[in-house]
Amino acid sequence: MSQKGPLLAALEGKCPRCRKGDMFQYPLYKISKFHKVHDNCPHCGMQYEIEPGFFYGAMYVSYALSVGIFLTTAFLVTMFMENPSIKTYILSVVIVALVLYPINFRYSRILFAHVFGGIKYDPSK
Ligand SMILES: [Zn+2]
Repeated sequence: MSQKGPLLAALEGKCPRCRKGDMFQYPLYKISKFHKVHDNCPHCGMQYEIEPGFFYGAMYVSYALSVGIFLTTAFLVTMFMENPSIKTYILSVVIVALVLYPINFRYSRILFAHVFGGIKYDPSK
């Protein structure tokens, strides 16, 4: 079986160690359970929450992603609407941020585990 690169593994929400097991228990569209992370990797058994509060660091990633979402939305409003009011900006940013919240939540945890988690990829797992 071919091995996944780090980018594809992160994009698919795979375990940072084996890049095979899913980090999240349910698919994104199960909107009431989108946030549930496996305790251990279903493939290699690595514990995802390496230490208590490990995923608190994901808040910083989430903040960065949110800023990106805000700026992109404001830019698109400016590009495609004629003379938008401040209410239009605020409403657009709030709606887009809420709609993208599950994606933001997941990718902030995935990126945190992959980039800042200090977990080494182990192809033998
Ligand atoms: Zn794994």
